[in-house]
Amino acid sequence: MTSSFHPPVRTLMGPGPSDVNPRILEALSRPTIGHLDPQFVALMDDIKRLLQFAFQTSNELTLPVSAPGSAGMEACFVNLLEPGDKVIVCQNGVFGGRMKENVERCGAEAIMVMDDWGMPVDPAKVEAALKANPDAKVLAFVHAETSTGAYSDAHRLCALAKEHGCLSIVDTVTSLGGIEVDVDGWGADAVYSGTQKCLSCVPGIAPVTFSPRAAEVIRNRRTAVQSWFLDMNLIMGYWGGNTKRAYHHTAPVNAMYALHESLIILEAEGLQASWQRHALNHKALATGLNAMGLEITVDESHCLPQLNSVAIPDGVDDAAVRSQLLNNYQLEIGAGLGALAGKVWRIGLMGYGSSQKNVLFCLQALESTLAGMGAKIHTGVAAAAALAVYAD
Ligand SMILES: *Cc1c(COP(=O)(O)O)cnc(C)c1O
Repeated sequence: MTSSFHPPVRTLMGPGPSDVNPRILEALSRPTIGHLDPQFVALMDDIKRLLQFAFQTSNELTLPVSAPGSAGMEACFVNLLEPGDKVIVCQNGVFGGRMKENVERCGAEAIMVMDDWGMPVDPAKVEAALKANPDAKVLAFVHAETSTGAYSDAHRLCALAKEHGCLSIVDTVTSLGGIEVDVDGWGADAVYSGTQKCLSCVPGIAPVTFSPRAAEVIRNRRTAVQSWFLDMNLIMGYWGGNTKRAYHHTAPVNAMYALHESLIILEAEGLQASWQRHALNHKALATGLNAMGLEITVDESHCLPQLNSVAIPDGVDDAAVRSQLLNNYQLEIGAGLGALAGKVWRIGLMGYGSSQKNVLFCLQALESTLAGMGAKIHTGVAAAAALAVYAD
C-alpha cells in the first residue's frame, strides 16, 4: 500500500514558494463549503476588499484568479490584447521574456526594450520606444525581477505609458507585500501578482486588478478573449459585485480561506510595517554576507530586499552547497536562473520568511557549509555583523 505523503519541514529561502505562516496552513484545513454558499460569497467580498487594500487601489475589477502567478500574467495579456496589437515589452530578466511569449501567442507584436540582467528597466529607453511606436497599445514590464533581484521604477514607467496613450501591464508577483506597490498612485492599468512570494500563502492563486480604463478595453473587444477560463467578461459573472453570482468554475474554496488569512495578516501588520521589516532583514543579511566576504550582485539603489542575489565565490560548487544546505539544515535557497545559472544564489526573505531568525540561520548554515568545503571566507563574524544591524 502507498502511504500518506509527509513533506519534510524545510525553511524556504529561495525565490518562492516562501515559508507559509502556520495560521494560513490552519485556515486551509477548515471545512470546505460550497463555492456559491452565502457564507463563501461574503468571504469573496472580503477578499476583494483586502486585495484592493494590498494593491492600494479602488479598482472594481480586482479579484484572485484561481491559478498561479503565471495565469495572472496570462490573464492580463489575453484580456487586453487582440491580434495585430503592438506591445512594448521590457526585459531585464526571465519574466520579461515570458511576457514576450504571451504577447506573441495573442497574435500581437512585441517590441523589446532590453536591459542587462540585474539592472532596472531604463525609462529613457522605454520613452524612446514609445516615441518610435506611437501605435503601441500596451507597455509591459516586471516591477520586481525575481530572476535577478532588481526592481524597476513602476511609477515612472506607468506615467510614461499614460503620456503616450498606452495601457500598462505590471508584474508585481514578487513585489506585493515586500516593497511598495501602489496601483492607483502609479496609474497602472493591469496588475497581477501571486500568493506564494511575499504574501506567504500557498502557491496557486493570482491576485489581479484592472483599472476602469482597462476594464473598458476588455468590455469593448472586437474579438473574444482566446482563453475561456481567463476571460474577465465571464469571470465577472462570478466575482462581480452586485449581480447574482453565476457558476463559472468551482473556486478553490480552501485556497481562498488561505488567501483571506494571508491578507488579514498583512492588514494587521500594515503595508508600511511589512515593507520596513523586509528592508531591515535584507540589510542584516547583506551586512552578514559582506562580513563573510560574499557580495550581493545587485546595486543597493535598485536591490529587492526580498530577493538577494549572491555571487558564488570562485571555485565553489554551486549545486553541492545547495544540496548540503537542504540535507544538513533543511534549508532551501535558490539557484541562479537563465543567464545567472551557476553564477549566483538567490536568497529569498519573503513575507513570513523575512525574519531575524531566518537571517541568522541562513548566515550560519552558509558559513559552516562554505568553511567545510575550504572556501576562502571570513568565519565567526557574519552573525555578529547581522545582529549589530538589529541592535541599531
Ligand atoms: C514567481 C513569478 C511568476 C510566476 O508565478 P507562479 O506562481 O510561479 O506561476 C511571475 N512573475 C514573477 C516576477 C515571479 O517571480
